[in-house]
Amino acid sequence: MKVTEKSLKARCTELNLGPLRNTTFGIKATRLNAGYTVELQYRDATPPQILAESVTAAEAAATVEGAAAGAAAVKVAGLDKPEFVTRDTFIRQAAERCPKCATKDIFSGHISVDKGSMIQKCSCQRCGLAWNSIYRLDDYELSLPVSEMVER
Ligand SMILES: [Zn+2]
Repeated sequence: MKVTEKSLKARCTELNLGPLRNTTFGIKATRLNAGYTVELQYRDATPPQILAESVTAAEAAATVEGAAAGAAAVKVAGLDKPEFVTRDTFIRQAAERCPKCATKDIFSGHISVDKGSMIQKCSCQRCGLAWNSIYRLDDYELSLPVSEMVER
């Protein structure tokens, strides 16, 4: 069956009102001059996530179905997109990403040190979330030997 702009939009509506109804996002396909764009639109203030850009109608349809299948699988597993990443994920990302929207466009500000831990005030330039990144003292290593420093 040939995919048209109309059939693609109808399919998105069908998915949004059906399998994706209770998820945190909906799916949207838009036809632009360069081709089709497929994006996820979150129901909160999270900016849309573009899945495909400048693709053909058939590719857009495949992207839409893939996203819907993925969302359905996640829903069955009971892992609907949580609002914030877990501590483990945050650590794995080395505090380089916003714990809510995952962008690296974050502002790292003031650091305060207190008995083996450091707290850095951070905020997200994209979603506006503010949080404290917590660092704990881990080890020490010697820098230049003292004798070398004296000789120089
Ligand atoms: Zn964010």
